[in-house]
Amino acid sequence: MDNENDPTGSGQRRRPRPDVTAIGNRRLKPATLMMGHGYDPALSEGALKPPIFLTSTFVFESAAAGKRHFEGVTGKRPGGAEGLVYSRFNGPNQEILEDRLAVWEDAEDALSFSSGMSAIATLLLTFCAPGDMIVHSGPLYAATETLIGRILGKFGIGWIDFPAGATEEEIAAVMEAARARGRVALIYLESPANPTNALVDVEAVRAARDRLLPEGDRPPIAIDNTFLGPLWQQPLAHGADLSVYSLTKYAGGHSDLVAGAVVGRESLITPVRMMRNTLGTITDPNTAWMLLRSLETLELRMTRAGENAARVCAFLADHPKVERVVYLGFLAAGSRQADIYARHCSGAGSTFSLYLKGGEREAFAFLDSLTIAKLAVSLGGTETLASAPAAMTHLSVPDARKAALGISDNLVRISIGVEDPDDLVADFAQALEAV
Ligand code: PLP
Repeated sequence: MDNENDPTGSGQRRRPRPDVTAIGNRRLKPATLMMGHGYDPALSEGALKPPIFLTSTFVFESAAAGKRHFEGVTGKRPGGAEGLVYSRFNGPNQEILEDRLAVWEDAEDALSFSSGMSAIATLLLTFCAPGDMIVHSGPLYAATETLIGRILGKFGIGWIDFPAGATEEEIAAVMEAARARGRVALIYLESPANPTNALVDVEAVRAARDRLLPEGDRPPIAIDNTFLGPLWQQPLAHGADLSVYSLTKYAGGHSDLVAGAVVGRESLITPVRMMRNTLGTITDPNTAWMLLRSLETLELRMTRAGENAARVCAFLADHPKVERVVYLGFLAAGSRQADIYARHCSGAGSTFSLYLKGGEREAFAFLDSLTIAKLAVSLGGTETLASAPAAMTHLSVPDARKAALGISDNLVRISIGVEDPDDLVADFAQALEAV
């Protein structure tokens, strides 16, 4: 083992081999880089796959090295930790995962978290202070709305929202209203929005911010990219500064883990990392390892799920027991949503809303008759899931807000997986028969 790490007998550990990210002028694609980027087998006994590093702390080479590490961790020296220090700050599995997550959005840096919500909470706590305002698109995932509206509100942080799909003028007017109440600390978007699938015009948000606010006083634009990212939407390329993920969904992709991420420019990631170091919201090594495995098949899984969803939606849209299907692949030509889709998205995803003719009775009869699709909340897994938001995830939402968001009793939310598409169509067909 010693000879392996010290092949020249020089007393020096073998240095990591430089990562190959291009062949000549050809930049390697994310699907290729997911197999090895950020990991050198030579540092782990030649293991093809990274071991899971179950350790709470890391041994320093010397006292001076330990001091230098802590200067980086505490921000006394820019650039963060140069090595591994303590597992609340970083670890090999998480670092490899973060390198690979950054690849998908061509980002400078990425951070992994214990859940999508801990990523969002850490982000908000990093940028917001008492008296500040958050400008956000609406609707947001329910727990994010709770965090901003009810929890941060207790600490004197205000918020104001604009509807997803708003124009640059409408967004600018909301920003002006926010500025009248305090410093705008963060612009927070979710697109497509959960549960409406409404898209936000990131380019318009950026234009409104840059027009209204002088350079140096511009809040970061963060966007929850859980529903289409990273394959079908890369918001950093359209003007967002930070991309946020529940990795629990498509990135994890097997409904067997909970995790989150924030991806973006290093200068913005660094303060978020400091906050994560303090709070301990980093993902654990085992989950990070599972995510490395997930990312190897991300493009395959998402591509298949997207194709399956197109197939299933085409079948459902024509069915006599179906009122309508709200799916990004069906946006009305010439509409504002279709325009945003054309500029920002490269695929319609596999999560959509099915409105049955009738009400709760019909929705429940349909759900109870499904055999392949499982009756469960969440999305983005290999298996198809279906649920009734009005009776489940959004049960506690006030009726008026439910009506405004289109969360009616006849709504079924569906996330299509990677099963055989004909089998899925057969399952939906027989469940509709039973209604
Ligand atoms: N963002 C969106 C759009 C979500 O749908 C979810 C969960 O459903 C989250 C964030 C929260 O993620 P997690 O459950 O991993 O904390």
